Parts: sequence; C-alpha cells; structure tokens
Amino acid sequence: MIWIKIKYRFYLYVHTFLFQLGFANRLLKNRFGERIIVFHGIDETGETKYNSRFHSVQFFEKFIQYVVANYNVISLEDFYAKKFKPNTLNIAITFDDGYLNNYKYAVPILEKYEVPATFFITTIQNKANYLWPDFLDLVSFYTSKNEIIFENNLYVKNKKKEFVFNGVSLKNRCKKLTFDELKSIFTIFEEEWEKIQKKPLEDYWQLMNDTQINLIAKNKLFTIGSHSYTHANLTMIPFEEAKFEILKGKEILETIGSKSIVEFAFPFGSYNLELVNYCRNIGFKRVLLVDYNSEKDQRIAALKSRFVMNPYVGFEMQILYLLKGKYV
Ligand SMILES: [Zn+2]
Repeated sequence: MIWIKIKYRFYLYVHTFLFQLGFANRLLKNRFGERIIVFHGIDETGETKYNSRFHSVQFFEKFIQYVVANYNVISLEDFYAKKFKPNTLNIAITFDDGYLNNYKYAVPILEKYEVPATFFITTIQNKANYLWPDFLDLVSFYTSKNEIIFENNLYVKNKKKEFVFNGVSLKNRCKKLTFDELKSIFTIFEEEWEKIQKKPLEDYWQLMNDTQINLIAKNKLFTIGSHSYTHANLTMIPFEEAKFEILKGKEILETIGSKSIVEFAFPFGSYNLELVNYCRNIGFKRVLLVDYNSEKDQRIAALKSRFVMNPYVGFEMQILYLLKGKYV
C-alpha cells in the first residue's frame, strides 16, 4: 500500500513537471472521456479556512480558459444526450448551493468565454438567507464559546474548531436532522452571526435572490436545477420529509424562473434509489450525485456522478486529477 502511494506521488511529481514544461497534451492524450464537474463557491482569494469549498476567481478564470482551449465543454443537457467529441475530454460544468458569489464572480467569466453551466440552487430563502452548513462553519470559526448544549448534549470545541459530542461533530449530527429539528443552532450562535454579518464575509454564506436566479434562468448559456429546499441530507431524514424537500425546491424554482426544472443534485451527494425514483416521477430528467453508491447504479441513465473540484490542489494537479477522473 505504501509503495503504491510512493509510486503514485512520484508519478504525479513527474507529470506535474512535464506539464509545466508544456508536454501536457502529449502526455495525457490517452486520458480522455467524460466528466461532469462540480464547483461550490468562488471568492476573491480562494479562502479555505472556513470550509473546503471555495476557489479563487483567478483560478476559476484560468481553469475556464484552459478547458475551453483544450477540451469540449458542453451543457448538461448535451452531456446527457452524449453530444461528445472523440479524442478529447468532454466536460459539463455545474455549481451547487446557489451562492451569490456564483452570480458575482463565475457568471461574468462563463459569459466572457461563452461556457454553458448549470446552477443547482437551494431554495431556502423564505426560511433563512444562508445554508445551515455555511452558518455552522462560520460561527464555529469565530465563536469564543468552547462548549454549547444542543439537544441536551454538551458539545465541546476541538482543535479543528468543530463542536463534538461523543465523537460526533455538530455538523454530522445536523446532517441527520430536518431543518426544523436543527434550527436551534441559529439561536445558540445568534450573537456570533450578528457579528459575522457585519464582516466582509458575505461571499461565504450569501445566497442568490430571486432576481439573480431569474437572470441566470433567462440566460441561454445557463440552466438552473434544484438542490433541494433546505439542504438537508435526504437519506438521513424521514422519507416523507425528503420527498417534500425535493418537491418544494422544484416548485419554488419553477415559480421564480417561470419554466420547468428538470435537473436535481442531491445535497451532500447523498442518495438512495427510492429518492431517485421519486425525482424521476415528479419530472426530473437529470439527477446528479457525487459518487455512485454501487456499480449497478451506473446503469440508470438519468443518474450521473460528478467530479468535485478541490481547492487544495494546484492548477496543474487539478487538471491531472480531472483527466484521471479521481483523486487517488
Ligand atoms: Zn450542496
């Protein structure tokens, strides 16, 4: 196992070096295929201290320039219709969560290079103008509290600035709850959130409003898809609640964009086949994951996995991993 790791690291060093020398195209010419990429947030600097989901606008533009120049970038609809070019990498670009920063930083770049993309939007806005995972990341980072009580359990902050009870982090506990069950975290960290809202941190939590979502929906380059109603982990909450999350998110987006929404991405990539069937029954044609639960799920045409962009690897390595289709 260790030998494989060393060998792989060596392979990556050599490849990065050759890549920097400009041998990339020849070196990687047999590594083509199809990938659906998922980005989350874009900000000015690519800050990773609050969470692991942000790329800088500079990285994003460099990446878009590179893939447009070297590969075939197509819409999600064309990707599903297999409008692929041979001997190249065929890419569809998606964004999860519905951050305002997508509208602010990514949209102008995508328009500049005429690159199609799909935005999977969480439609929680009538309950809160942020997602609970972003809220929890930011308050955990900034709070001076060392312990809190949630569901009558004492959570203690560890060195990674996570609140933990009995080996389970508050975030992982919240992933098992519906929005209404977890929303007491908003009261626990009310003071911290007041302060955070006054800091220039809106790129890390603010979601698009209806006007911005509508502008994206109207743009011929882009499509909007649903990312559920409140970003609950749909396999962990009761089935009826999960169905409501899927249906309500679709209905709200259809009202905002005045068109039917046929694309859905599971929050946290967490799915099961009952939920996939429900999605298809209510009219979702394209259902997106991160990883398949099993190999046989790959045979479901509506269901596709995605390659998650990683802000911790540099540009060259990111291209190499993308070509490889995985990080290991
Ligand atoms: Zn998400």
